[in-house]
Amino acid sequence: MSEIFDERRKALEEDYFRRKERELLDKMRQDAAAEAAARGQAAGRQCPLGHGALVEEARGSVVIDRCEKCGGIWLDPGELEEMSRQSGGWFDNFVRSFKNE
Ligand SMILES: [Zn+2]
Repeated sequence: MSEIFDERRKALEEDYFRRKERELLDKMRQDAAAEAAARGQAAGRQCPLGHGALVEEARGSVVIDRCEKCGGIWLDPGELEEMSRQSGGWFDNFVRSFKNE
């Protein structure tokens, strides 16, 4: 009779530890995801050449992302057109030449 109780106790213990382990794993996964999200936000955009974080700079109404190491500039969709409209000179014509306007 006591053997049955022992087995039942063992099964309950195993179940308990499995549940605890699963809870711990879930918590670790959530913490890792939150940490990765926070790191991504803090780091911002990265230079595609691997120089680190880009710095935001206002140019007229456009905010560009510039690398302080290589000087490379990253533009969002439509920002090149906006900058060329603002310049209104040869650069505007140059950009238009690619768009069949
Ligand atoms: Zn760079």
